[in-house]
Amino acid sequence: MSDMKDPLTTLLKLPPTRKQTIIATVVGLLIIGLSMSVLPYAKNHFLEVNAFYPLFIAWVLIGDFVTSHLFYIQYRASGEKPLLILSATFLFTALIVIPHAAAFPGILPYHWVGNLEQLSLWLWLVWHIGYPIGIILYSLNLKRNIQPAKFSREKLLRWGMLLGTGAVVVVVTYLLYYYRASLPAFLDGHNYEKLVYSGIGPVVAGLNVIAFTMLLLRTKFNSVLHIWLTLSVFTFCLDVILTLYAGERYSVGWYMARFNALLSATAALAVLFFEVNQLYIRLTRSQAQLKRSQTHLNNTLNSLSDCFVALSNDWRFMFVNKSAEQFEGIIFSEVKGKHFWVYNTHLLDTEWYEHSMRTMTEKVRTEFLWFDEPKQRWLETRMYPTEGGLSIFYRDVTLRIVSEQRMKEANEKLQMANHLLKDFSFRDGLTGVYNRRYFDQVLQREWHASTEEGTPLTLMLFDLDYFKLYNDTYGHQQGDECLTRVAHAVRDALSDSNAIVARYGGEEFAIILPQTDKIQAAVIAESVRLTVEHLGIMHNVSPAFSVVTCSLGSFTMQVQPEQEGQESLLIQLADQSMYEAKQAGRNQVRIHGQ
Ligand code: GH3
Ligand code: MG
Ligand code: MG
Repeated sequence: MSDMKDPLTTLLKLPPTRKQTIIATVVGLLIIGLSMSVLPYAKNHFLEVNAFYPLFIAWVLIGDFVTSHLFYIQYRASGEKPLLILSATFLFTALIVIPHAAAFPGILPYHWVGNLEQLSLWLWLVWHIGYPIGIILYSLNLKRNIQPAKFSREKLLRWGMLLGTGAVVVVVTYLLYYYRASLPAFLDGHNYEKLVYSGIGPVVAGLNVIAFTMLLLRTKFNSVLHIWLTLSVFTFCLDVILTLYAGERYSVGWYMARFNALLSATAALAVLFFEVNQLYIRLTRSQAQLKRSQTHLNNTLNSLSDCFVALSNDWRFMFVNKSAEQFEGIIFSEVKGKHFWVYNTHLLDTEWYEHSMRTMTEKVRTEFLWFDEPKQRWLETRMYPTEGGLSIFYRDVTLRIVSEQRMKEANEKLQMANHLLKDFSFRDGLTGVYNRRYFDQVLQREWHASTEEGTPLTLMLFDLDYFKLYNDTYGHQQGDECLTRVAHAVRDALSDSNAIVARYGGEEFAIILPQTDKIQAAVIAESVRLTVEHLGIMHNVSPAFSVVTCSLGSFTMQVQPEQEGQESLLIQLADQSMYEAKQAGRNQVRIHGQ
């Protein structure tokens, strides 16, 4: 029904084709021509065919009833209020011809009902006054129809209009019948020229001309309906004028007027039939079109490798594509219209549920990755709100996720190996403390940091005393062992500080102490010397001591910016300090610096 409210599909607005306009104009001109051509003989008496009038009335009656009904249906379909006025107008004419015909001479036996001749003429007048009034009302209401009335009021309007029309006909007929004796008698035999002279006839004709003019001006042939309605009103006008001009029943003009009345009653009917057919054809076509695009859409959705499920606003299955059927092990035709949650209780209390609820209620699209526990699959899921509910696309990305995970693990292992390798390349092979290479890098770094941060930098060098003798006495292997023990002991003793302990070469070690001033250096130097001595490694052949000892030189510097890159200076100064310690008798420290 709502489709019918599309402006293009309502009768009122269906635009006319050129052909239709031409046909209507030609028919109109033909009628004028025909009517004009009989004018000279209009007043001539013609055959008095008694069966003619009942046939004529029957035609008008049926034609107008059907027309009224068709307009009514069009109104119900489109909600265009003016169509209801048209329906009522044609209902009025259909109803009023009944008493008019009944009163017409020769229809009901007058010896039963009394002479109703005059009444029949008066009812004819009512008929020809009512119709133009209906058309005028229609014209006036054409532009005003904006919103269809609310349902209850609409129903009231509809029934009020139709029953009101019936009531008007009944009441007017009854009043005219009741006061028939007091009505002016216009009819004299078949002659009704008095009607013209009384002025009533011309007023009625004028009213019809006004109705015709108004309709024409207001619609200007803007739709097929209005072309033919205008033609109908036009022939109706001609009917009145010719009738009045002829002045007598069964005259040539009177017959021509009846012909016009028939045309009038048929024109609107014909166009309604035509247009209803047109609309029906359009409807059939658009339904076929709709079905085709639906099929196309379904085929597309079915060809998707992604799973697709469409749900209605009340969580019922509206569509499940082939991929989803396979993945879920369901068949769409079996679950169609069934409740989604009945089939997916395992999803309740999961994030899936939260996401779908949010998409449905807040009308926002969501995208998320989630693990379907029962199926043990990773699903990449997208949810879109739709007018009718929810569209869900998802795909199994387990393979991808698993390989991503494996890759990540492999990457981590590789990184660890890399780290180890790097660390390994910075370690001294014998003692395990840092090697010379690392020492060089760190010293360079800390030298630079000292200039940047303005902090003091201390370098210590210590060398084992009389180590050649040790080697010569205990063997090279034990010498190695001794070196390792000393290195570990010193490293462990300094583990709480930021000191870097490295093997500088042979039995000589270096300690880099960032942010360490001379006073702190003195304490650390002494603790290193003691650490070595307290290891108590036997050295019987040492000329001065009975255990392995070391001599340590320390130098502290506040590196100046202009000294950037001259870190060898510090090595030189620390080495001099150590030499001093050796010279002074060994197993002692010398602290220098700023
Ligand atoms: P001082 O330093 O007290 O003046 O006397 P020194 O005997 O220690 O002096 P020198 O520098 O002449 O001797 C260094 C010795 O250290 C030479 C070598 O036998 C030993 N040495 C150097 N590197 C290693 C090493 O890697 N393993 C072992 N076992 N001995 C080493
Ligand atoms: Mg030595
Ligand atoms: Mg040495």
